[in-house]
Amino acid sequence: MRIVRFSIDGNVAFGAVEGDPLPASGGGTPSGTEGLVVDIMKGVPFADFELSGTKIPLDKVRLLSPVLPNKVVAIGRNYAAHAAELGHEVPDAPWAFFKPSTSVIGPRDPIVYPSFSSEVHHEAELAVVISRLCRDVPRERVKDVILGYTCANDVTARDTQRTEKQWARAKGFDSSCPLGPWIETSLDLEAAGDLAITATVNGELRQAGRTRQMLNSIEDLIVNITEAMTLLPGDVLLTGTPAGVGPLLPGDEVAVTIEGIGTLTNKVISRG
Ligand code: MG
Repeated sequence: MRIVRFSIDGNVAFGAVEGDPLPASGGGTPSGTEGLVVDIMKGVPFADFELSGTKIPLDKVRLLSPVLPNKVVAIGRNYAAHAAELGHEVPDAPWAFFKPSTSVIGPRDPIVYPSFSSEVHHEAELAVVISRLCRDVPRERVKDVILGYTCANDVTARDTQRTEKQWARAKGFDSSCPLGPWIETSLDLEAAGDLAITATVNGELRQAGRTRQMLNSIEDLIVNITEAMTLLPGDVLLTGTPAGVGPLLPGDEVAVTIEGIGTLTNKVISRG
């Protein structure tokens, strides 16, 4: 199931997307919404819910970030080739940091260039959405705490990341965490562990990798994080980015595509 959160006529609801995206006119990547309908959900995806049977074309609604996480836990340097491109060693253990809830935006929402940076980078990442309150999750139970997967962009002020010891501003500014377009719930851990992941900017390929290149697997990361903290329903884990990160400028359109999930597209705008 592909779970979306959306607004229509001022109301916000979850829904399940049906149909297959049509190719964009003239070929290329699918537009993302053409040919799709959303069946409105009664309830929320973290508890018992049913589908109402009331269906709306997806291009008639405004897609929102598929969850409103209490926290986004992100992992640095989880792909060796990305660590190398920034001139870093691979860490011995996962390096976790937070992106605040206020950094989250949805599909098509603008990434607003922060005033303090002149070097903002894209980072395409697989995002894991947590289904239930959990702590000290053993490896064999990891699959039971995952609702599904979505695309993320760990947008980073690279210049600020270099000059400030903590990454709260560099990776936590408003609009630095696009998520979407939906939560794909049909992938198991094995499938999620080997998906193609790409980032394009204005249609030009910048990043291309596979999730099997992660140094720490999804299981490793959830065990590691829940040793330290409780994860809540809707919390999001960003699993690191493959090589090829690079600059974004106002006016650019950045798209993160993950095989079996979909495409998350956002435009970059100037502040003010
Ligand atoms: Mg990252």
